[in-house]
Amino acid sequence: KVKEQGKNSFLFYTPEMDVVSLERLTLEHEMRNALLNNEYELYYQPQVEMNTERIIGMEALIRWNHPHKGRIPPGEFIPLAEESGFIVTLGEWVLEQACIQNKRWQDAGLPPIPVSVNLSVRQFEQKNLMEVVQEVLRRTGLPPQYLELEITETMTLDVDRASKVLSQLKQMGVSISIDDFGTGYSSLHYLKNFPIHRLKIDRSFVRDLEHDPNDAAIVSAIIALGHTMNIHVIAEGVENTGQLRFLQEHACDEIQGYYFSPPIPVPEIEMMLQDQLVS
Ligand code: C2E
Ligand code: MG
Ligand code: MG
Ligand code: MG
Repeated sequence: KVKEQGKNSFLFYTPEMDVVSLERLTLEHEMRNALLNNEYELYYQPQVEMNTERIIGMEALIRWNHPHKGRIPPGEFIPLAEESGFIVTLGEWVLEQACIQNKRWQDAGLPPIPVSVNLSVRQFEQKNLMEVVQEVLRRTGLPPQYLELEITETMTLDVDRASKVLSQLKQMGVSISIDDFGTGYSSLHYLKNFPIHRLKIDRSFVRDLEHDPNDAAIVSAIIALGHTMNIHVIAEGVENTGQLRFLQEHACDEIQGYYFSPPIPVPEIEMMLQDQLVS
């Protein structure tokens, strides 16, 4: 017997399957409890302006500090959270925490810098997404221009509804970026139909751009396309000076990657923001 599971994985019923589903059930249960037990934490990765090397943004990235298993990276639980629908609750928590933190920094006199929050397709499918965002901004007091929502092209969206929702968010003052740009089926479709402020070049194109002429061509074309459309372009996964130099020569606006900083916990990014205040 074959059972279709999600997009592209077929599970065969075997004795091990009971173990697998039990593990999944356990993880799912733990994931929900973790919210009540305060086991989630947001890390922040700085986004740096190419020419000035100043921090002009930061991406909030969730971490799970599991009491027994240690820190679980999002790649290991976000997909399950998406399948089970728990991401809707978790995503709202992320949004609220990111807004609370950003507001707190601004109130403390640190330089006001927008925060980017990843939005799951499951959140996007919620009819009340607009209201949720509006309500979180109201509760936290964060001005909307300090919030950017990252959407990915793997989201198969109802174009009419999506462009309506995204336009409403834009009207509210919230920015929209396309994450992992170039990896989905509908990159150009998104650009054509949605009000996009920023493109994030996926790190799979950045990794080998010094050695792979295809990657180099794709990256320079994305930058040119963005600029023609008046959209900022940021490169993800920048790890070394060779990649940096290429991106600089091709006038990429911003970079995010280990070269400048990995995602870091609150006290560490606070120190970076402090430094920026005095320099
Ligand atoms: P993403 O949104 O594309 O985030 C960027 C990922 O690339 C992060 O992985 C970051 O740590 C990693 N990265 C940044 N610079 C470099 C680099 O120079 N080299 C390498 N090798 N990696 C780099 P992370 O934190 O493990 O997150 C993975 C993915 O999990 C994210 O990809 C995002 O899709 C998802 N995710 C994380 N937090 C959330 C969240 O709060 N909500 C939702 N829906 N998804 C999230
Ligand atoms: Mg992202
Ligand atoms: Mg990305
Ligand atoms: Mg992603």
